[in-house]
Amino acid sequence: MRRKGKKELTWKRVYKANQRAIKLIYTHYPKMVLSRLIYTVWTALTPYVGIYCSALIIGELAGGKDAGKLAELVLFTLIIEAAIAFVSALLLKWQNSEGGGMYQYFQIQQIFTKKLLDMDFVKIDEEKTHEMLSSIEQYQNGGGWGLISLIRCYEVVLSSVFTFLGGITLTVSLFTSTVPESAGAYQMLNHPLFIALIIFVMLAVTWLSPVLATKAGEYWAKNADKHNQENRIFRFYSFFGHRPEIAADVRIYRQDLIGAKNMVLKTGVFESKGLFAGYARGPMGFYNAASAAVSVLFTGVIYLFVCLKAWAGAFGIGSVTQYAASVTKAASGLSSLIEIAGTMRNNTFFLEKTFEFLDIPNPMYQGSLTVEKRRDRDYEVEFRNVSFQYPGSTSYALKNVSMKFRIGERLAVVGRNGSGKTTFIKLLCRLYDPTEGEILLNGINIRKYNYLDYLSIFSVVFQDFKLFSFPLGQNVAASCSYDKEQVISSLQKAGFGERLSELPDGTETYLYKDFSENGVDISGGEAQKIALARSLYKDSPFIILDEPTAALDPVAEADIYTRFNEVVGDKTAIYISHRLSSCQFCDEIAVFDNGEIVQQGSHEKLVEDEEGKYYELWRAQAQYYTE
Ligand code: ADP
Repeated sequence: MRRKGKKELTWKRVYKANQRAIKLIYTHYPKMVLSRLIYTVWTALTPYVGIYCSALIIGELAGGKDAGKLAELVLFTLIIEAAIAFVSALLLKWQNSEGGGMYQYFQIQQIFTKKLLDMDFVKIDEEKTHEMLSSIEQYQNGGGWGLISLIRCYEVVLSSVFTFLGGITLTVSLFTSTVPESAGAYQMLNHPLFIALIIFVMLAVTWLSPVLATKAGEYWAKNADKHNQENRIFRFYSFFGHRPEIAADVRIYRQDLIGAKNMVLKTGVFESKGLFAGYARGPMGFYNAASAAVSVLFTGVIYLFVCLKAWAGAFGIGSVTQYAASVTKAASGLSSLIEIAGTMRNNTFFLEKTFEFLDIPNPMYQGSLTVEKRRDRDYEVEFRNVSFQYPGSTSYALKNVSMKFRIGERLAVVGRNGSGKTTFIKLLCRLYDPTEGEILLNGINIRKYNYLDYLSIFSVVFQDFKLFSFPLGQNVAASCSYDKEQVISSLQKAGFGERLSELPDGTETYLYKDFSENGVDISGGEAQKIALARSLYKDSPFIILDEPTAALDPVAEADIYTRFNEVVGDKTAIYISHRLSSCQFCDEIAVFDNGEIVQQGSHEKLVEDEEGKYYELWRAQAQYYTE
């Protein structure tokens, strides 16, 4: 049973969703929307100029036959048509440069990208967010639903309205011109009832065709979720070979075979015996065919009425072409207006799904305090009784963590896998907010700071850091323009100096081959050095390194350690590692176990406690170093 209220798809709801959507696109891309809509109105109205002019010419040919007047009319028509063609070309060029075809598609995707980048990190991590985004993509790819069809809808609305109005303007005299008395029985064409009947038949037929077409369209819209799942599978396996990062595993384990099987094994809604083929053979096909047939019927009624009136002498032969063309166009305007209203109605559900995603709140980023840009870089960060559970998890990843660190210190965070080290850093960088307790920067809860401002004091090399297929210099500077000397110096400090000198285009060398044939592929260790250089270039007061040498060979690792103080300079370094040997140079070591800090102190102090966790880890690893 249909529920009342929100579930009811009223025209008010349709209007609200579509208006909000067009406003949204307009705020992001005003020129794209304007250029497309202006071009649409222009192309809807200009054909009538041609229709009107040719009616005048034919009228003159059939009537007065004045050669001078004919020449004038033809010249006038040519000039005005040339001017129209010229303006059309200009408007089309404007439209294409502002957002034609696929470009428009990508611009709309940018709206989702912006939302994702502004969203609380915790939401990005949630399965539900991915589900929502994936559904929106499938609606787009499957039936062209959602924001992607919106500009097209508004184009059709405008072109329909203007086509209708233009057509009506040239049609009024068809009904007002009267058949002369001499026409005898044909005078019934003048009777208001007859005219009303003709208008009624025209309107009924005009209305029926799009209504039938919309009915056919509903079969797609209603079953969107069924083809979504299928499209998702198609998309995944169709691009199986396009992804170099999975190529090795696919080959070794022949996962292409699983792919091929999955492509055919699924429910098969698109197959010849599937759901949609059934609809096409049944009701959907019937509605589509009926819609086409009805519109042909309309043309017949028009020609009959116009020809009868001309035959009876109501107007000249020139007007026959004008009326036949303009009535057909007015009707097609009305018909497409009704059809697009149906499409926009069907699209409402998908727009609302889109808004549900775009409206995901981001309460984390409401702080407004600016982080004082201190010359002395005298920042102090404190964790006060911080506990944290990942969303949806019942256990604590961090439990009652309290710790203070001041600028210039070298702090190591050690512990076994899963002990909470990375979570500790994610909280420090405000990717998540603590479940209990608080984190303070210079005595103030970090939630109160403007998020981007707060982030500016941290450089992080995450364990699973990512580099991009841009030139090396842009990767290091995280910016298109960069200080070359600074980039080179950061790369050298990170141990990439030698490799840099071999690169064909120096700091302008592209990483990977996505955007340049001369791009270089780099090893995991080299990538780690570049990521380290990126964190140094940012020159923020805190530098956080999560297993920064995991991919380095022992020589490169030893090289970084011996120069660690020089590399890190006056920054506060937080160094995460499960390799205790690499933490000895830190002033302070915090030992994590099961989400808690179980020990804290210098290496010398910690190894003394033979009952402690640190000693246990140290002893387990020492074998490798001493053997
Ligand atoms: P470490 O960095 O010391 O290896 P983590 O901080 O990554 O440890 O993990 C601490 C605990 O939190 C582990 O039990 C881990 O399984 C859990 N955890 C980590 N990330 C997530 C996540 N995104 N969602 C749920 N649990 C997580």
